[in-house]
Amino acid sequence: MSGIFDSLRSIVGAAHVLHEGDLAAWEQDWRKRARGKALAVVRPGTTGEVAAVVRACAAQGVSIVPQGGNTGLVGGSTPDDSGTQVVLSLARMNKVRDIDAANLTLTAEAGCVLQALQQAAHDADLLLPLSLAAEGSCTIGGNLSTNAGGTQVLRYGNARELCLGLEVVTAQGEVLQGLTGLRKDNTGYDLRDLFIGSEGTLGIITAATLKLYPQPASSLTAWIAVPSLEEAVHLLGLAHKVLGASLTGFEVMGQFALSLVARHFRQLRVPLYEASPYCVLIENADSESEAHAHALFEQLLEQAIEDGSATDAVVAANLQQASQLWHIREAIPLAQAEEGLNIKHDISLPVSRIAAFCAETDAALAREIAGVRLVNFGHLGDGNLHYNVQAPVGGDPAAFLDTHEARVNALVYDAVTRFGGSISAEHGIGAFKVETLPKYKSPVAMELMRAIKLALDPKGTLNPGRVVLL
Ligand code: FAD
Repeated sequence: MSGIFDSLRSIVGAAHVLHEGDLAAWEQDWRKRARGKALAVVRPGTTGEVAAVVRACAAQGVSIVPQGGNTGLVGGSTPDDSGTQVVLSLARMNKVRDIDAANLTLTAEAGCVLQALQQAAHDADLLLPLSLAAEGSCTIGGNLSTNAGGTQVLRYGNARELCLGLEVVTAQGEVLQGLTGLRKDNTGYDLRDLFIGSEGTLGIITAATLKLYPQPASSLTAWIAVPSLEEAVHLLGLAHKVLGASLTGFEVMGQFALSLVARHFRQLRVPLYEASPYCVLIENADSESEAHAHALFEQLLEQAIEDGSATDAVVAANLQQASQLWHIREAIPLAQAEEGLNIKHDISLPVSRIAAFCAETDAALAREIAGVRLVNFGHLGDGNLHYNVQAPVGGDPAAFLDTHEARVNALVYDAVTRFGGSISAEHGIGAFKVETLPKYKSPVAMELMRAIKLALDPKGTLNPGRVVLL
């Protein structure tokens, strides 16, 4: 093994090959559900270095786990416990290469933290609309590799829709130069889209060209209490009608999810949740003016109160209040983690079937496990729920998972399939769902995925054991 260390050091410099001391930051996942052992952590600083690292590892039969911000939620970014895998961290590749204001594009290296790119776009008076609670730590390479969603998908699409071009290091250590800012390019198979969402199993993204948008003239946020999930869906339809294209976010939060925020983050004052089974957070980004945004919001709220789809509402008076409301929504996963390990489901369903799915599945889980607690929240506008299952009060979370996880997953995923949904809306497959996926995806689709993996990475160098098993 000393051969591989020498090769890696000669490529990136000894300071960027870590293999002694505490490597927990790279070896443990955000959820603390996967803890592996890396042969080494390698931190290349350029695309050429990434390519050389891949060639060196491939030549010596060493597999690679690409890693960005390590905020992924499906155990895809940490090594297994064999002590034979190299973690390739993109963190040093953090330069914005170009902002082309006329073309409305930004080109950046894969290790750029999402929030830094939002800021770079903002500084150019433009908007990069990808936004998620992990944006202070996750990287654009990780966002594209997982095809991240977040809170603005409703208006702007997933990471995939925001990406025009990619630079990728292949499993053979070649550089695929595809950093185009073109919005139209029908020159054969779409290689870009193959790498997006492939979770580091087909290639290593080293840079990307992303779409930018004009900043909205005004952005308004409202927190609305709704009497049921059915009414939340009704309110979504009304919001589409009244706000049109300026509706950028529509999040739903269950009462128990909000009670966890209130308990674990007392400094955050959670409005309206005590008297309401669900609350909704709506963002209206208006391209005309603040007055226009207010007028539309008023119209929406009046209609919603009148037809019973809303019972009460708080409209943020300024940007600071808006960000406080968003902060509460974003604190849900953190509050949930404080409460203890839980069984996570990142599912999507046709919006029209969400309420029926929850009614049926909530009841089935309650029958299965007395006192079970459901942390239900998500991007309702995209039909995406984080439908998570927490141990009954006083129960030991680890023991709860050991006893119930397999059964609960089967119950939830079977119901998702019956209702025409997907078992992974935005987090991906990683290691945690790799064995579950073939049960819910067609054999033809699985066979095509295996064929693609074998064609691009026949030696299985890149992130083995994730997404698809060979
Ligand atoms: P990592 O966790 O480092 O890696 C994720 C996967 O991508 C791994 O398989 C890894 O091998 C691969 N990878 C990373 N970088 C590269 C690269 N350059 N080339 C090839 N493969 C690579 N996700 C959502 O979609 N929407 C949300 O709203 C959302 N909210 C979240 C909230 C919290 C509090 C947390 C902790 C996570 C949330 N996530 C969400 C999940 C996570 O943040 C996203 O999946 C994010 O896109 C991962 O980026 P990362 O840089 O941390 O990637």
